[in-house]
Amino acid sequence: MNEFQLIKQYFQQPDLNFSNEYTALKSGDDCAAFSLPSDLELHFSIDTLVEGVHFPENANPFDIATRAVAVSISDLAAMAAIPIGFTLAITLPELKQDWLQRFSEGLIQAAQFYQCPLMGGDTTKGPTLVITVQVHGVCETGQSLKRSGAKEGDKVYVSGPIGDGAGALPLVIEDPCLNSGLAKQFYAPIAQVGYAQKIKTSANSCLDISDGLVQDLNHICHASGVGMTIDPKAIPLSKELLATYGKDKALQYALTGGDDYQLAYTAPHCQFGVCIGEVVKGKQVTVQGMDLSSGGFQHFI
Ligand code: ADP
Ligand code: MG
Repeated sequence: MNEFQLIKQYFQQPDLNFSNEYTALKSGDDCAAFSLPSDLELHFSIDTLVEGVHFPENANPFDIATRAVAVSISDLAAMAAIPIGFTLAITLPELKQDWLQRFSEGLIQAAQFYQCPLMGGDTTKGPTLVITVQVHGVCETGQSLKRSGAKEGDKVYVSGPIGDGAGALPLVIEDPCLNSGLAKQFYAPIAQVGYAQKIKTSANSCLDISDGLVQDLNHICHASGVGMTIDPKAIPLSKELLATYGKDKALQYALTGGDDYQLAYTAPHCQFGVCIGEVVKGKQVTVQGMDLSSGGFQHFI
């Protein structure tokens, strides 16, 4: 099988390389193209996953694919953009048809779930498996949610349980092919695309939690010139996380872990989400009853 047969067989399948209302030209030419009405802005974001760095070696190819697409689409969700298509650059150490088959099945599942077709890409041979996904999405002009809009007096919300992604990581490092219970949160996080549409008119600022709740909320603080106080007791923790690690460790994962792909946002009032604190005058996040300055969130003060 040569490079072009490989591309055709695995990356240009009709279930993956479909069209939507924005598709002007899909995979097959030197470029793909979108056709956009003038009242929409194109948003795009790119993420690279390196084997052994962002996912364990020997992970299930289906899971690698669903994760790669979901974490990229999560960046669109963070800004309330709707996915319209993605491109994929993949570097493969060797051509394994069984691996590619299962990888492309994961791509198809994600593409269908988010209604976001694969529109083109690049396929190369190299020493390590590297997967780069660029996602494209649309939002009405000037309406996307940013990190910079938080205002003193806003409440701070999260879209769902925090800490599961970080709690899943030790489990998938132990067993790269585990994909049940908590481990599912690592390989198949759900990008909150629909959720973002529900909050976009009330939220003043938003991002997706990929690096840990405190660190990510600090990004909003810095971009908006505000501080935040967070009530740790209000942070939603899943039953699975609590059952696996107990309360203290679960909270530690939630505050500093990352890989959640839930949304964190601020709004004067929002009927959706869990309120975990508020925006105050200041420069950074404080978590009530905890000293974050030592880097040791586990040290209660
Ligand atoms: P070029 O040499 O002009 O860059 P390529 O030979 O790399 O073109 O790719 C040929 C076609 O196959 C292009 O339309 C490209 O978008 C598509 N393609 C290549 N690799 C991928 C991939 N991993 N996923 C989706 N489409 C791909
Ligand atoms: Mg070309």
